[in-house]
Amino acid sequence: SAPLPRTPLFEAIKSHDPQSPAIIHSNSGRNFSYGSLLKDIAAAKQRLANDANRDAGSLRGERVAFLVENSYDYVVTLLAILGSNAIAVPLSPAFPSGELRYILDQSGALMLAASDKFATKAEDVLSGPLAKKPILSRCEKIVEGSKSTEEVVLEDLKDDRSGMMLYTSGTTNRPKGVLLPQSTLMAQAQSLSQAWHYSPNDHFLHVLPLHHIHGTVNALLTPLLAGSTIEFLFPFSVDSVWSRLAAPFLQSTKQSRKPITFFTVVPTIYNRLLQSHNSLSLEMQTATNEALHPKNMRLNISGSAALPTPTKEAWTELSNGNVLLERYGMTEVGMALSCGLANEDRVDGSVGWPLPSVEARLVDLDTKTIIKHGEELDVNGKERSGEIQLRGPTIFKEYWNNPTATAKEFTDDGFFKTGDVAVRRPVPSAGKGASGDWAKGPMYFILGRLSADIIKVGGEKVSALEVEREMLSIPAISECAVVGLPSETWGQKVAAVVVLSEEGKTAGKDGKPFGPMDLRRGLKDKMANFKIPQELKLVESIPRNAMGKINKKQLVLQVFGDNT
Ligand code: ATP
Ligand code: MG
Repeated sequence: SAPLPRTPLFEAIKSHDPQSPAIIHSNSGRNFSYGSLLKDIAAAKQRLANDANRDAGSLRGERVAFLVENSYDYVVTLLAILGSNAIAVPLSPAFPSGELRYILDQSGALMLAASDKFATKAEDVLSGPLAKKPILSRCEKIVEGSKSTEEVVLEDLKDDRSGMMLYTSGTTNRPKGVLLPQSTLMAQAQSLSQAWHYSPNDHFLHVLPLHHIHGTVNALLTPLLAGSTIEFLFPFSVDSVWSRLAAPFLQSTKQSRKPITFFTVVPTIYNRLLQSHNSLSLEMQTATNEALHPKNMRLNISGSAALPTPTKEAWTELSNGNVLLERYGMTEVGMALSCGLANEDRVDGSVGWPLPSVEARLVDLDTKTIIKHGEELDVNGKERSGEIQLRGPTIFKEYWNNPTATAKEFTDDGFFKTGDVAVRRPVPSAGKGASGDWAKGPMYFILGRLSADIIKVGGEKVSALEVEREMLSIPAISECAVVGLPSETWGQKVAAVVVLSEEGKTAGKDGKPFGPMDLRRGLKDKMANFKIPQELKLVESIPRNAMGKINKKQLVLQVFGDNT
């Protein structure tokens, strides 16, 4: 195959002002420049080679797993692995040892690099049963700054076997290893940059896990390519996020902190922040409003799961009309669909348009034909829902060591079958190109996963996500998950698992908790009868994984039991 171009990641990092801050540790305020980053990468690269007992450069294609907290050390380790033309496998410190062993075995890792903080955890992982025990490499604390003066040697990419391996969230099954070669990562970053206009003036507040695409590509690699500053706030807490956002606008702290311009998290984090905002002091509330004002905060983004409209509205209100932007992505494809930078291109419930260089199509669930533009409605005027299929340089090419899964998920003409279902709708107020050429025409609306969110009641399809969206606008409901249960008459029926809000606990008849009849009353003007949940189970909380997602198969078993 033709040689790939030199890795633009390091070229980009070298082109930034060496004095300019790349990474900041939010708790201490310590900052690390792009210049020191390059030196430290070189030192870490040498150390990895030494620990592996190999020449530098001979780690090409090897999997190097690492267990490091969100910090400068993390970035140095990741980039040192990429600079060695190896495959970086970021591990989540929150995973139990057994899960980490699964990933080490599945990826066939040669090494496990661990920071001081996770040295004990790494030893515990390595002392358990493993098919092949990786070499342990202890990351030196780099925070004191490297003494290395070595010129950074970053090789040409001679093959496409270097990059990152990210594991899917495991919402529907065991996590799958997704190989993302450097060329794919760079294509993803370029596409995002074109749409969201990353720049050296951007200052990120980073609170996401780094073993997922959202935290790694959107909030770390792309900003590094653009020369932005990334401030890690770790570990996450709502109070510390509010304090940091407010800091530049409080008399006592304004000298030492710059305004945050870019914040991207998942819907559950926006919810938690909103819930705690009321209990902030008046002074803090004023300062945080200032922080979120569009003149300071350039962009707030939500993704990884559906953004409830009340959450979006409340956040937008706090932000003085700076509308929260929703986008859709997955481990296998990076970001695929996004709303636009123009406020009018951030439409409720929509994830926008295919991002630059992403080729997207919808394939009708019933007829299996491509839903062409202009054919969004069937002969009866009903919306046609279809599976989202994607192609282009941002899309992964293989699940690691799993040719069967890989073959199954691609069409003959090279499109990846996402397993997610959507409709396309014209939105008169949006899609006129105000956000760029890519953000034009009818918009995509996600209906959910084919495997868990599309419920078939008689001949009709119900989108769990659409029902959830309506339910969440009922004040009695704080959280919900809509699922399909078997029905003898209809094949499936709609059911809901609900966490009540404080007010919901007495919102029913005679001060009783909100119940199935109240739900029916609340929804009957908003949707067809067959979509309204037939059963409602109240729970204290709905279990979610690290990315705030619900495994619906597990939830059904847990809440409705085996007899469903
Ligand atoms: P697994 O593949 O292991 O079951 P997962 O699919 O949850 O886990 P990820 O790749 O982290 O793993 O998540 C991608 C999925 O998240 C998408 O396929 C989609 O179902 C969901 N998703 C992402 N963004 C959105 C969004 N804006 N709205 C609705 N769903 C979204
Ligand atoms: Mg998935």
